[in-house]
Amino acid sequence: MSIIREVPTFDLTVPVIVIGAGACGLTAALAVRDAGQDVLVLERDERPWGSTSMSLGAVCGVDSAEQRQHGIEDDVEAFVADVLAKTAGRANAALARTIGRESGRTLDWLSSQHDVPLLLDFKWTGLGHSRPRLHIPPGRNGEELLALLQNACARAGAEVMTGALVTDLFADAEDRVRGVRVRRRDGSSEEVGCEALVLATCGFGGNHEMIARYIPEMANARYFGHEGNRGDGILWGQALGAALADMSAYQGLGTLADPQLVVVPHPLMIEGGFLANVDGRRFTHELENISGMCVPVLAQPQGLAWVVFDEQRHQNALAHSYEHRQLVEVNAIRRADDWAGLERACGVPAGSFAEENAAIDAARAAGAPDRYGRSFAGLAPLEAPYCAVRVTGALFHTQGGLRIDDEARVLREDGRALPNLYAGGGAAQSISGPDVTGYLPAVGLSMAITLGQIAGRSAARSCA
Ligand SMILES: Cc1cc2nc3c(=O)[nH]c(=O)nc-3n(C[C@H](O)[C@H](O)[C@H](O)COP(=O)(O)OP(=O)(O)OC[C@H]3O[C@@H](n4cnc5c(N)ncnc54)[C@H](O)[C@@H]3O)c2cc1C
Repeated sequence: MSIIREVPTFDLTVPVIVIGAGACGLTAALAVRDAGQDVLVLERDERPWGSTSMSLGAVCGVDSAEQRQHGIEDDVEAFVADVLAKTAGRANAALARTIGRESGRTLDWLSSQHDVPLLLDFKWTGLGHSRPRLHIPPGRNGEELLALLQNACARAGAEVMTGALVTDLFADAEDRVRGVRVRRRDGSSEEVGCEALVLATCGFGGNHEMIARYIPEMANARYFGHEGNRGDGILWGQALGAALADMSAYQGLGTLADPQLVVVPHPLMIEGGFLANVDGRRFTHELENISGMCVPVLAQPQGLAWVVFDEQRHQNALAHSYEHRQLVEVNAIRRADDWAGLERACGVPAGSFAEENAAIDAARAAGAPDRYGRSFAGLAPLEAPYCAVRVTGALFHTQGGLRIDDEARVLREDGRALPNLYAGGGAAQSISGPDVTGYLPAVGLSMAITLGQIAGRSAARSCA
């Protein structure tokens, strides 16, 4: 993966090349086509998948038509305030403002112009968002979101070449990207010229060296994002003189079913379930920082925990969660008619789950928060039969990346933009501050889709 300064004569040149066919790259391609330019998306995998397909498909959008239809008033300043509160003032406020201003209208554009419907969801309330902002495709999963975007690209005439790993960029002495080298699956190489380049290669979760360097606390943790996200775009940008920001930031959930590797839906806990370790003891406020829950979970004996809930929550989750249905299919849920039975099924000390549940009931009855400061007020007590899923923590996606401006142009260390390089999604800096505590739910896909739209639009304009 390098920058080649000797620029060849290209047999084929397209106005805009996009590297990566995840949510960011495909949205960028749609924006390029809407601006009347041709675009070529290059994707390493034979079948586009990316972290986008692995995701829950929830996208944060501010002041969308969906929100207005449901009577939800939202605005840029409310969003920026939420971002700054979640990150203790350490996020890039200008970037948050850009996302606040553009995310809702980007979702409206996808829905009205490209038949990519994203519906407002009320299951994930709070957790740092002062308004309902999560928009989910009808089938409620990331695979569907990617399929909707792929279909839209096909209709819009955006060409997507798969099995096409970009290995090198060609750039001139002014750091203008002039083209890319692509390795095909049969080992052959092709060189394609471009007038502008969008980096939509996501973050560096699949690059162990970069993780050890920038996020050493996760160096030995499992990575549960797309393995093809090796930080290529970030490394190319850096080699061209781009500034990096917030490289130590990441999201890591603590609710990855072990060993089945399915994400346990958070509404189970939002609606009153709890986490206990293998000794059957609670150890944290389950909702305080769900995006960084990998840290307390991995600190528990064996790095494992149990998500404990009941039959009623199980039924609710079955109705709304694709992942929960997967948990049933792979037989990940243990179930018993009483606490003693569930404790036996999970191999935790007798009486431990029952005691923890009784402590929660007592706190609720006293109208007081529990010993971790969590309030269960207004949530129905758990009732038999009881259920549990064993989980572990993992790194899901990195949040640091290339510094960009409000047109998604990649910036140099001195703040000047590189001539024709754009970035979005996991390849760009996010709005999560510098560590694991600042990620607001559904911001990852919002950075992908919103910045993808901005990057595609800006790149197309630069070719006009
Ligand atoms: C399990 C899980 C659940 C998640 N749930 C949510 C959620 O509900 N809401 C949310 O907002 N975020 C969620 N996220 C985060 C979200 O998935 C990412 O933020 C988002 O998908 C990033 O989109 P992207 O387009 O930047 O990257 P991706 O979708 O990963 O796409 C990047 C693409 O670039 C390709 N690529 C990389 N390098 C090259 C190269 N050199 N040449 C060619 N192709 C290349 C990759 O193969 C990949 O297809 C979740 C993440 C995980 C792992």
